[in-house]
Amino acid sequence: MQQPLAGCSPQRQNSTTTFQNPNFLEIQDLTKKYGSYEAVRQVSLTVNEGEFFTLVGPSGSGKTTLLRMLVGMEAPTSGVIKLKGSVINNLPPNKRPTCMVFQTLALFPHMSVGLNVEFPMQIRGLRESERRTRAWELLKMLHLDPNKYYEKFPSQCSGGERQRVALARALAYNPEILFFDEPLSAIDAQLRKILQKELKDIQRTTGKTFFYVTHSLEEAMVMSDRLAILRAGQIEQIGSPHEIYSYPKNAFVASFMGEVNLLDIVGTGNSFAFWELRRSRFLIHLPETLPSEQKAKLLIRPENLRFSSTPQASPANSLPGRILNEFLIGSRKQFHFEVESGTILTVERLREEPIPTPVNYVYWEPHESQILNS
Ligand code: ADP
Ligand code: MG
Repeated sequence: MQQPLAGCSPQRQNSTTTFQNPNFLEIQDLTKKYGSYEAVRQVSLTVNEGEFFTLVGPSGSGKTTLLRMLVGMEAPTSGVIKLKGSVINNLPPNKRPTCMVFQTLALFPHMSVGLNVEFPMQIRGLRESERRTRAWELLKMLHLDPNKYYEKFPSQCSGGERQRVALARALAYNPEILFFDEPLSAIDAQLRKILQKELKDIQRTTGKTFFYVTHSLEEAMVMSDRLAILRAGQIEQIGSPHEIYSYPKNAFVASFMGEVNLLDIVGTGNSFAFWELRRSRFLIHLPETLPSEQKAKLLIRPENLRFSSTPQASPANSLPGRILNEFLIGSRKQFHFEVESGTILTVERLREEPIPTPVNYVYWEPHESQILNS
């Protein structure tokens, strides 16, 4: 007989009891060492029942290692994993009421799409008619017309369709939690955007807990109720997309979010700091005081920078320079503004917004910037 997906075990249809259990999945001080190398370091977090939780981090930050420990494919070096209050550290993968959707697909190539989806129900002993009905429902939910797809083979489906079949099969296990390891990374950008929204819809419709891993913060922002940012095996910040976007804890989180401006500043003991460049030095008005000589990063989002022909009145900060490049990004325009050779600020304005002529300065109000630790 075929092996079920590693990390998957069938669940009774009505095994989920209370909704929104705040400590559904608890991870305490989870560490994984390979020799002396710590791939995951003392990670602690909790996931609520029914939540779309995403772990985001650059390649090599330990996302897959953490996920493999959660599904039982890797033994933790230390720490505790609890599901609904019970420690599951030592449960083998097929005894964990979880399921993993792999980054690379593992559909059975010799079985039709329909039978692939029915497989988890078959090993659970469901009658054929029940299996068939459920498989049709799942295929429909994933926008795969069963009349067309049930009899097809995985090799006759596109990459995106195979992803959907894999997800339908994972849902057929009726797991407590679904784990995803970058399932969309090999899919082209346009389809990826569609599938992201579909995934979120399916998560909401089914009420299942999703634990998702991606290197794309943008993807995490679109889908997640909460997300955790992982850097070199450690959690940097956990919060809702809004919290992470509005209050990044440090420069790593802020820069991970894409094209933001981060100025290396040095405090003066009051609400001013110096921004020292190779040829110029600017005194910058801060949103709060910074101790004298203290180094920090000043975060200014591209959309908070505006152009002007003349310097603005204090307390606004005006920096002289010139527009180097202009890019159209959908409804917005992005500009590269050169303060001096080698120092570029990114500015974003709405496409239809008039730009003053000539552009001699960018400016922002102190409250539109944030002081971050490096
Ligand atoms: P991510 O999924 O975030 O890209 P991984 O969890 O795959 O990162 O890897 C984290 C780090 O652990 C990497 O530096 C990787 O080389 C290392 N690593 C992963 N698996 C092993 C292993 N079996 N043996 C030794 N080192 C490993
Ligand atoms: Mg990985």
